[in-house]
Amino acid sequence: MFGLGEKNIGIDLGTANTIVYVDGKGIVLREPSVVAKSTKDGEVIAVGEEARAMVGRTPGSIQAVRPMKDGVIADYDTTVAMMKYFIEKALGHSSGKPYVMVCVPTGITAVEKRAVIDATRVAGARDAYVIEEPFAAAIGAGLPVMDPTGSMVVDIGGGTTDVATISLGGIVSSRSVRMAGDKLNDSIIGFVRQKYNLLIGERTAEQLKWDIGSASAKAAKDIEPVPVRGRDLVTGLPTTVEVSGVDVNAAIAESVAEIIDTVKETLEETSPEIAADVIDHGIVLTGGGALLKNLPEVIAEETQVPVTIAPDPLDCVAIGTGESLKSINVIKKKQ
Ligand code: ADP
Ligand code: MG
Repeated sequence: MFGLGEKNIGIDLGTANTIVYVDGKGIVLREPSVVAKSTKDGEVIAVGEEARAMVGRTPGSIQAVRPMKDGVIADYDTTVAMMKYFIEKALGHSSGKPYVMVCVPTGITAVEKRAVIDATRVAGARDAYVIEEPFAAAIGAGLPVMDPTGSMVVDIGGGTTDVATISLGGIVSSRSVRMAGDKLNDSIIGFVRQKYNLLIGERTAEQLKWDIGSASAKAAKDIEPVPVRGRDLVTGLPTTVEVSGVDVNAAIAESVAEIIDTVKETLEETSPEIAADVIDHGIVLTGGGALLKNLPEVIAEETQVPVTIAPDPLDCVAIGTGESLKSINVIKKKQ
């Protein structure tokens, strides 16, 4: 399709994680979307995993930045620097400039989409194309996206939850809300501060969500509490408190309800035929947020539709983006 030696890559440019897929190889890189920069001159000090380890631990001279927010570029120059680093790391220095497919959330503005394409070019792409994230997620989850049958995918990432029904190679209906993993972390920080007068960092909150967070108030009662370290807001000193599964569930309940409402609303505006297909095949969850304990059960209970988690939920969008490289020529004509 392309000249010899040209490599094509797919990038899942996520709010939380960036995943790179190289044509013919599959996923070659998974790293947090974080960049550490010097506060003096903006020089990039570290990117990805190395930069994430610095979050909340930086001295005054270093700042750890997450350049993507709510699924879109919040800091253009830093995004370019991050993509450049990841593209070079994924391809090595061997080959020429790659064609790059990048996924974008549904419902972003034309300006936001333009920014993604421009950033990808500046970062080293010969040319850049975009694919809608829920469509990529559905391909990556192995759903029959080209068939005349409706599938529903719910991708819960760091910044956004994207819900879409897909049939015959296209998105039939979709919703994107800026409510996902990051908001759950914020809610946990807020809850722990209010209930225990304890200030905890973003990474501690995320760890709590992974370890003892549950979408189900009932199941949360059986989860063992864990000791959590932070700073006491009254004394100002470091201290440890016990945080329970019930606490974390209470902290995130409202956000989880909003995600479920979005799923319900999308189902409600779906045609009866597609709704019937979705009832038959079930709703498929992708993205890291799908790993929140008991989330499938709770969504199934609320919607009365069976729910499953895709295999390797964190990789689905990247796999789908990568597989869609095959159709890059078709997309080229459309854009
Ligand atoms: P994005 O595509 O926005 O980069 P990802 O699909 O990579 O997001 O998912 C990242 C989100 O998934 C983060 O908010 C992270 O905290 C969350 N996550 C990852 N693993 C788990 C888990 N086991 N339980 C709950 N949330 C999780
Ligand atoms: Mg994602």
